Amino acid sequence: MADIVSYHAHVYYDPSTTRTAAELVRARIGERFVVRLGRWHDELVGPHLRSMFQVAFAPELFATLVPWLMLNRLGLSVLVHPNTGAPRADHMTHSLWLGEALPLNADALEISSDPAEDVVVPNTAPRT
Ligand code: ZN
Repeated sequence: MADIVSYHAHVYYDPSTTRTAAELVRARIGERFVVRLGRWHDELVGPHLRSMFQVAFAPELFATLVPWLMLNRLGLSVLVHPNTGAPRADHMTHSLWLGEALPLNADALEISSDPAEDVVVPNTAPRT
């Protein structure tokens, strides 16, 4: 467990049909949680074969953010994975899916990485 530096939730959408739902989910996360919201990726990036945005969060948030996403993902697929310094295993083996599980391009993932890069610097300021 100590190997988990942080988690990512990747929220997938279709730019032509479900971008509005993704915008709602993103805004609601930002209103509720101290996380790092990543850029919009309408264009495919890394191992991801659908458009998505990333939510990076500290381990302490798992027990509140993940159940919230279970109930509030508006039908979107969400990949939740730990960051342990092993990107390929973290995405392909150690992960969980909310909703439909989507294919990933494992070849785009490094076997190992520097865990220090996955420490989360939040960029949201939730209302209290
Ligand atoms: Zn990720």
